[in-house]
Amino acid sequence: MKCTICGDVAAINMPQHRLRLCEAHLQEWVPRMAQRAIDKYGLFTRDERILVAVSGGKDSLSLWDILIRLGYETEGLYIHLGIDHEGYSDESEERVRAFSRAHDDAPFRVVNLEETYGQGIPTLAHDRRRSRPCSVCGLVKRHIMNRVAYEGGYGAIATGHNLDDEAAVLLQNTLHWQAGYLRRQAPLLPASHPRLARKVKPLVHLYERETAAYALVCGLDYIEEECPYSADATTILYKELLSRLEGRSPGAKMQFYLQFLQAKGQGLFAGGAEAEPPLNECTRCGQPTSAEGLCAFCRLWEPRE
Ligand code: SF4
Ligand SMILES: [Zn+2]
Ligand SMILES: [Zn+2]
Repeated sequence: MKCTICGDVAAINMPQHRLRLCEAHLQEWVPRMAQRAIDKYGLFTRDERILVAVSGGKDSLSLWDILIRLGYETEGLYIHLGIDHEGYSDESEERVRAFSRAHDDAPFRVVNLEETYGQGIPTLAHDRRRSRPCSVCGLVKRHIMNRVAYEGGYGAIATGHNLDDEAAVLLQNTLHWQAGYLRRQAPLLPASHPRLARKVKPLVHLYERETAAYALVCGLDYIEEECPYSADATTILYKELLSRLEGRSPGAKMQFYLQFLQAKGQGLFAGGAEAEPPLNECTRCGQPTSAEGLCAFCRLWEPRE
């Protein structure tokens, strides 16, 4: 298998693009695809500082690497969730530190839940009698990302969601006709309040196997283990279904997602949006909330009898 551009040994075959690339050309092509998405969806400008949410996994570290290569001013944000299972959180943090060292001490900050708030996700979810920690975790991560972005004056928070992630969520939302979620599913979620940062996904045009190949050829040292709570069977099933479709018809995944964005741009789901509830300021942390008094994040840490 030869690189379509230079004839050297190809590291990856991408039938959906009718393209095979060697290691060197893959390292050029992936950042170009990300830049195209940044430009196409107007995710951010070169004057803005970008906070990159990093988990230590291949997608978020690839994203950070790509944005640095493209010359954007970035800072990594690692949230230590206090997940002990096989040292998951400590290991992940170490990968972020190693990435920074290997990239001229790229700036990053760590928010350690146990040190800052006294509890990590597993005990917090247990105390709040949540069967799955992910709902608590999502809420906590959103709050911290918004706070850090606001306090640090960042233009946007970038996450490493790839095309496979987005297509699986889209399939799930479509099968359940979740109009509200479909309306909000986009590579750019605008800031709806000065204290809520814009959320952007520069990797939405890239397949998971492309970011994985990129991480590999760039020698990124990422954590291969998934979070022990991430065994969400439904998402895995949707990813498998889409991959089967892709195997039969290369490009199907990409078409599914891109044509959805196109249809949305032409007004699909435009009607029927419920009015957003008016936002109050949380009396403790100041972040906007639809609740009176404390926001959902601050209520999480209230003592229980
Ligand atoms: S899978 Fe792990 S990191 Fe992801 S939301 Fe759930 S608990 Fe948090
Ligand atoms: Zn080549
Ligand atoms: Zn609050």
